[in-house]
Amino acid sequence: MTSDCIFCKIIAGEIPGQFVYQDEQVVAFRDIHPIAPTHILIAPRKHFDSVHHVDASDEPLLGHLFTAARLIAEQEKVSQSGYRLVVNTGAGAGQTVFHIHMHLLAGKPMSDKLV
Ligand code: AMP
Repeated sequence: MTSDCIFCKIIAGEIPGQFVYQDEQVVAFRDIHPIAPTHILIAPRKHFDSVHHVDASDEPLLGHLFTAARLIAEQEKVSQSGYRLVVNTGAGAGQTVFHIHMHLLAGKPMSDKLV
C-alpha cells in the first residue's frame, strides 16, 4: 500500500468504493465520474504507479486483469454488446490516478476513433 494513493485507500477499505468484483489479486469498482453507462475500474491490489512501472515478473498479475475484465463484462451483461478497455499511462495520456488500472467502458455506441 502506498499511503497517498487513493486507489490503495479504496482497496484497503479506508475510503468507500462501489465494488463489483474482488479476488486475491485484483479489485474492480465503479468510476465516481462515469463517462459511459458501464464504467468500471479494474486495479491490482499491488500498487504500481503505471504501466511504465511494471516488468516481466508482473505478467501473470497483469494478465489476470484481462481475465477479471472478461468476468466483469459477463457479470455486467455487456459481453455481447462489446466493451472498451483503456489504460491511460502518464499524465500526457490522461492518467490522473497513479495506481495502474484498466477502465472497462460499455453501454453506449463508441467511435472507432481512439483519440
Ligand atoms: P485515469 O484518468 O485513467 O487515471 O482514471 C482515473 C479515474 O479514477 C477517473 O475516471 C476518475 O473519475 C476515477 N476516480 C477518481 N477518484 C475515484 C474514487 N474515489 N472512486 C472511484 N473512481 C474514482
